Amino acid sequence: MLNIIRERLHQGYRTLNYPFASPSISPRFAGLPSLEPGSCKGCKSRACLAACPTGALRIAAEGPELDMGRCLFCRACETACPEGRITFTHEHRLAAYTREALIVRGRAPEDVDQPGIRPARGEQKRDLSLFSRSLKLREVSAGGCMACEADVNVLGTLIYDLGRFGIEYAASPRHADGLLVTGPVTENMKKALLDAWQAVPEPKIVIAVGACAISGGTFRGSREGCGGVESVLPEGSVDVYVPGCPPNPWTILDGILSVAWKKRMAK
Ligand code: SF4
Repeated sequence: MLNIIRERLHQGYRTLNYPFASPSISPRFAGLPSLEPGSCKGCKSRACLAACPTGALRIAAEGPELDMGRCLFCRACETACPEGRITFTHEHRLAAYTREALIVRGRAPEDVDQPGIRPARGEQKRDLSLFSRSLKLREVSAGGCMACEADVNVLGTLIYDLGRFGIEYAASPRHADGLLVTGPVTENMKKALLDAWQAVPEPKIVIAVGACAISGGTFRGSREGCGGVESVLPEGSVDVYVPGCPPNPWTILDGILSVAWKKRMAK
């Protein structure tokens, strides 16, 4: 017993003062993409397109565009681009309120690594401030590989301590304010996801976590369905998209906090 108390005192307070302090993330972490603007006409190889396993890249007239909703953050395009025009910053705050806002064009802003809570990218579809003090989420793993699910679960540990924000996972959709969905939504999980969504009382929110939940990810186009959350739930039902494969736990926490970020900033 004495050893436990001694160890507890030795470890001290481990919860990070997030979002007001910057988390320590591995230097290998690939965050917000930064794309050098300008025409790619001079490049005949299109090696970046060939390297991308999910078709997340597009070459537009103004330069490359990257869809974070499909991206696995594998960095294959960064290695393949002969002109070094595709790089990844260390910025973990990647969530967006709209699907369109996940498409990155041009260079990342210079202040990307400054601490603090920010709104997600794009415009909120509706006012979510009702959920600023208490938010209960039912997690639905819709055919996921357990990578996103593991990073969602870890938010309950003492480093992240999701509960201090008034956010908890609920055991039933009937007791929840919304769904947090992971996985590409396989045929077998379509009905279960729809049933869970219908069981959540209004007003309800949906957070799509990971490339699979957003777009189907690597399973996109599979005959097992797998078109992501929006292939099953009604149009406009997703309120926050959290990209990544899997997203870093800090990215997921930032995405959940962005549900009512203005009210949280005011606290
Ligand atoms: S990092 Fe994203 S855009 Fe680049 S090759 Fe991998 S999946 Fe495609």
